[in-house]
Amino acid sequence: MRLVLIGAPGSGKGTQTKFLIEKYNIPQVSTGDLLRAAVAAQTPLGRQAKAVMDAGQLVPNDIVIGMIRERIMRPDAENGFIMDGFPRNLEQAEALDRLLANLGRPIDAVLQINVDFDLLMQRMVGRLTCLSCGTLFNSFTNPPSIDTQCDNCGGTLHHRSDDNEETINRRLRVYETHTQPLAAYYSNKGNLHVIDGQGTVEEIKKRIKSALRGMRSSRIKLQPVTQQPAAKAVNTRPEVIRTQVSDKQKPAPRQKKREAAATNPVVRKRSKRTVSAAQTAYRAQLKTLQNELKTVKSELRDVTRTEKLLAREVEKNEAALEKLTEKEASLK
Ligand code: AMP
Repeated sequence: MRLVLIGAPGSGKGTQTKFLIEKYNIPQVSTGDLLRAAVAAQTPLGRQAKAVMDAGQLVPNDIVIGMIRERIMRPDAENGFIMDGFPRNLEQAEALDRLLANLGRPIDAVLQINVDFDLLMQRMVGRLTCLSCGTLFNSFTNPPSIDTQCDNCGGTLHHRSDDNEETINRRLRVYETHTQPLAAYYSNKGNLHVIDGQGTVEEIKKRIKSALRGMRSSRIKLQPVTQQPAAKAVNTRPEVIRTQVSDKQKPAPRQKKREAAATNPVVRKRSKRTVSAAQTAYRAQLKTLQNELKTVKSELRDVTRTEKLLAREVEKNEAALEKLTEKEASLK
């Protein structure tokens, strides 16, 4: 299932994404998170993006499109994804359509979560996120028991630097100008679902569920096996991981896989399913190619046989012609 969530900052996209991840067993792809990770790791891209983000403006399209191109090519996105915070303008939406068309994996549904701007301001100014488990609190509407500590896991609560009144205002204006027009773009394509984003988390979840009820992921048409060109120096994931974990601490890839599978059955189930879906697709493609090869070989055999027969005929006719020419000469 390939889903796109659009909505103003603070509209609850991130919160609703959590149940969608579990329901469809697909990863969340958030350009905001990818950019924040790059900022935290102080990569060149992160340093460049920080000023733009703090100002509440949009990071240049080529950077975020490059990030998305790289992200959706990873194996865990093969069965789908939930785009959160991307696309944010028309150019990004068109780029995403092109990327997905090349992969034969179109968007299944776009959910637009609508919330009043006044309410959004209140939500964001008070927003607190747990750095360990991602649980969201709000110092006005849903405060934690201890100011800076997560009720869920005891982790540290963090208030985003761009969640201040001035920047929020700018981000809302940017949303209105650049992102809001995407509703018309997707509505014209027939896959837009507008969700009322006001109410409790559970109420909004129900609305999303009913919008997606009965929906199946559109079929993957096999493409010739080609690779997309790698993103230009915008690969944030390895940069983030490398700067946070030293090589000594880092488990070997195989060990890492085993650990993930042992502790998280969902990971194990998903990776198996991903592999088998990819294998089935490649097997089908291999079978088609083998059959084509058989047909071509048999045609080649027929052509060779015909060529030999024709060559023999030509020889016979040449001999007959020679005899006739000799006869004709003797008659003269
Ligand atoms: P978010 O967490 O989605 O609200 O994103 C935080 C900030 O990251 C935004 O205010 C932008 O500066 C930047 N950002 C996130 N996604 C995009 C995007 N698709 N295009 C451009 N800038 C983005």
